[in-house]
Amino acid sequence: MRRLSSSKVIYEFSSDNEPAYKVNQGEPVIVETQDCFSGKVKNPKKLFEDVAMGDVNPATGPINVEGLVAGDTLCVSINKIKCGALGVMMCSPNVGFLSDDVRKSRTKILKIHSDKATFSPGLEIELRPHIGVLGVSPSKGKHPTFYPGDYGGNMDTVEVAAGSKVYLPTFVDGAMVAMGDLHAAMGDGEISGTGVEVSGEVTVRFTRSEDIQAARPLIETRTHWITYAAANTLEEASRRASSDLVRLISSRSGMDFEEAYMLASAVADLKISQVVDPLMATRMSISKRYL
Ligand code: CA
Ligand code: CA
Repeated sequence: MRRLSSSKVIYEFSSDNEPAYKVNQGEPVIVETQDCFSGKVKNPKKLFEDVAMGDVNPATGPINVEGLVAGDTLCVSINKIKCGALGVMMCSPNVGFLSDDVRKSRTKILKIHSDKATFSPGLEIELRPHIGVLGVSPSKGKHPTFYPGDYGGNMDTVEVAAGSKVYLPTFVDGAMVAMGDLHAAMGDGEISGTGVEVSGEVTVRFTRSEDIQAARPLIETRTHWITYAAANTLEEASRRASSDLVRLISSRSGMDFEEAYMLASAVADLKISQVVDPLMATRMSISKRYL
């Protein structure tokens, strides 16, 4: 299988980017990714304040997907995520949801085992590997890779994981997709500002979706459909994710808005993805048994 090296990365989703790789639709590839600190944090002495923002969230790519044209919906099928051996976590008075309460910056290095990470001696945590940054190029302008948006980007959503398909709108020919910022684990919210940050390898396939037209990221897991939105406030992000979910129910089931709205209110879950990036992100999920 072809490997796309993490030596070629972007720090902005930009219309000026040249393709680093070209892949065929449906071709399985292994995308190697650096961790979110560009591999520069190797020990607990290196604090958040020592990391340049220009080194945050390298995303491998951009990858030009043969045959996709602007306006198509890209489907990213994630087959496998392999985490690196060490994870990095941080907290600091300068980042995170409770930054005012942090008296002293700290960095923690965690050993990653096959399905667990050692948080501290005797305290193992469950892995939940997922991709933090997955996005496509805008048609004009640029978005730093630590921003989330309708184009994906810093999604920080735990279901962007093996077994899932992520549908993204595309704005340029070839989609120009890039990914990075793997987390071995992260709780909803990512409150300290980091998940368990790891380098790694992602086995994926890129195709044009024939049946889904996404205006914002949409995630299909084995069991659920999940809409996703980022905005200045959690309230606005929640409204967009909810609205997208109700419309998804309508379009797949033929229900009118009011019926779909009440079904969503009965069985769909609105959840926080993260509260620490420059825009807040939420998602709403519904079991596939209803759609
Ligand atoms: Ca992130
Ligand atoms: Ca991260």
